[in-house]
Amino acid sequence: MLPWTTYDAMYDAAVSAPEIFWLNAARRITWKQAPSVACRVREDGWHDWFPGATLNTCYNAVDRHVEGGRGAQPALVWHSCATKEHQVVTYQELKTRVAGFAGGLRALGVGRGDRVLITMPTMVETVVAMLACARLGAVHVVVFAGYAGPELAQRIDDVTPKVVIAASCSFQGRTVMPSAPVLSEALSLAIYKPSACVIVQRDACPAALQPGRDYNFHVLEEAEPAEPVLLHAEDPLYILHTSGTTGRAKGIVRDNGGHAVALALSMELIYDCKPGDTFFTTSDLGWVVGHSYGVYAPLISGCTSVLAEGCTAAASVMALCRRHTVKCLFTTPTQMRLIRHESRYHSDVKLPALEQIFIAGEYADPALLDWARSFFHKPVLNHWWQTETGWSITAHFSGLPDYNSESEGNEIGRPAPGFLPVIQPPASGGESGEILLKLPLPPGCLAGLWKDEAVTVPALYFDNTLKYYRTFDEGSIEEDLTVRMFGRSDDVIKVAGRRISGVQIEKIISSHPAVYNCAVIATSDPLRGQRPVAYVVTKTEAEHELSSDQIVRKVHDMLGPWVGLKDVRFISSLPVTKSGKIIRKKLHCC
Ligand code: AMP
Repeated sequence: MLPWTTYDAMYDAAVSAPEIFWLNAARRITWKQAPSVACRVREDGWHDWFPGATLNTCYNAVDRHVEGGRGAQPALVWHSCATKEHQVVTYQELKTRVAGFAGGLRALGVGRGDRVLITMPTMVETVVAMLACARLGAVHVVVFAGYAGPELAQRIDDVTPKVVIAASCSFQGRTVMPSAPVLSEALSLAIYKPSACVIVQRDACPAALQPGRDYNFHVLEEAEPAEPVLLHAEDPLYILHTSGTTGRAKGIVRDNGGHAVALALSMELIYDCKPGDTFFTTSDLGWVVGHSYGVYAPLISGCTSVLAEGCTAAASVMALCRRHTVKCLFTTPTQMRLIRHESRYHSDVKLPALEQIFIAGEYADPALLDWARSFFHKPVLNHWWQTETGWSITAHFSGLPDYNSESEGNEIGRPAPGFLPVIQPPASGGESGEILLKLPLPPGCLAGLWKDEAVTVPALYFDNTLKYYRTFDEGSIEEDLTVRMFGRSDDVIKVAGRRISGVQIEKIISSHPAVYNCAVIATSDPLRGQRPVAYVVTKTEAEHELSSDQIVRKVHDMLGPWVGLKDVRFISSLPVTKSGKIIRKKLHCC
C-alpha cells in the first residue's frame, strides 16, 4: 500500500528526505543485511545505492515467492508466434530450472563476477539463463539476437565472457534463422575466446554441437541445483550495451540493490501492479524494457510476466491479452502503429481485464495515442525511458489516487521520484533545451560503463558543472513538472524503438575504400518511427563505382538487417562548418 494520496506528496517526499524515502522503498526487497544508508557519493562523483547491504536478486525474483506460497502461480507465460509453442512456468518450476541451470553454469566454472553473454530470442530459456547468472553473482550480458557477427564479436571482446549462451536458431516471421553462422563468425572475429558455448536446441533447427566447446542447455539444467549467492547491493547484476555519440556500443552496468528497489517501487507507483497481476511487455528481452519489465520487475513483484516471440500482429497481441487476462500492456509506438494498420480487422475490441496500456521508447505522435485510446477504450500512458536509467524518468503514476490518464500531445508525464530534471537552455535562450537530471540519480540507474573489467562513468554523462547527468534528449518542463519531449540532441536514431547511433553506421560506411566521407541521419518512417539515411561522398580516384546496394549490404552484414538502411544518397560534398564539422541539420533538406 503506497503512503501518498497525491503526486506532489510523493515527489516532495523523495526530494525533501531522499534517505528516508529510499530506505522505506527498500523494504519491498528481502535483504540478508538490510540497508542502513541509502546513497553514498563515490570518489569519481557518481554514487552507490544501499552500500553495505546484501541480497540476491534471483532470490527476490523467484525463491521468496515460492517460500511465500506463490509456487503454483505462473511466473512466466511464453508464446511463440513463429513455432506456435506455448509454455506456462510456475514460480516453483522456475526455481527448479534456474537453480539447476545455475548449477550447470557453476560446473562450467562460472562464479561471482564472471560475465556470461546471452544471445537468444525472447524465450523461457533466456529468462532462466539471466536469473541463473543473478543467482551465482555472475554478470549477464544479453545481446539482441538480431545483431550480426561483427557486432557480437565487439561485445564479446568488451566483456570477455566465460560462457556464451545461444539458441540454435531464431525466426524472422516464419523463416528459420540458424544461429551457428553468426556465432561462428563472432567467435572467429573476437580476440577473446570464451571457454564454452551453451546451446538451446530448438526442434525447428537443432544445431551440430562442437565437442569440447558446446554444451546442451537442457542437459545442463539437470545439474546439482545451486543456492543463491550473497551479493553486495553495489555488485553488478548485468551489462547491457547501447548506442550513442561514439562509434562503439557502451556497456551500461546495473547494480543489484538499487535496481531491485527501483523496479519494485515502480510496479506499484507507475503501473499499479500487485502480486498475482499479469504484465505483458512486447519488447524483446535483448533491450532494456525486456530486462526491466519482461523479467525483473514483474518477477520481483510476484506478478506473472507474459513473453512473446515474434508476435507483432494485432491479432496475436490482443489474443495474448485476452487469454492471459493481462492487466498492463507495455509496448512501443511502432507496435501500436502496426495494430492501427491492421485495426480494420478488429472492430470491437473487448479486453475486460486490461486496465492500462503503457507506451515508451520513441516519439509517439498525439494522433496515434488518441487512436489507441479510442480503439482499446483504455488509458494509454506515454512515459520516457533510457537504457541508462533502467526505469522511467517521467511517467503517469497510476498507483496514486490523483493520477490523470488524460495525457496529451508530446507530454511524457512528470518526474519519477528522485529524478530532478532541469532544462539546459540553448545559447539562443528559450524554454526548451537539453534535459539534464540532477545528481545523484535515483536507484536503478546506471552504476557506470563497463571498460576493461572496471566500472567507470565517462565525462560525456556529466554536464560542465559536474552536478547533472546529460540525457541528450531535448524538451521542456512546465510549472507542474509536466515534461514535453522534442527528440534527441545527438545522433541517436530509434528504428522501431531500437536504438542505434548514426556515428556507428558512419564508421562502417567510411571503412569502405571508395568512400571519402559520409553522414547518417534519421528520417521519419510511417511504420518504424525513424530509419537511417546515409549521405555518401565517394573518392574521385575510386577504382569502381560504388552502389547503394553495396553500402546497405555492408551495414547490414556488420550490424544486422534490423537497422533497416534502404536510403543511400550519393552527393558531391557534405555541408561542413569552417572547422570541418558536418552540419547535419542542412542534410534534412537535401
Ligand atoms: P533506449 O535507451 O533504447 O531505451 O532509448 C532511449 C531513448 O529513446 C531516449 O533517450 C529517447 O530519445 C527515446 N524515448 C524513450 N521513451 C520515449 C518517449 N516516451 N517519447 C519520446 N522518446 C522516447
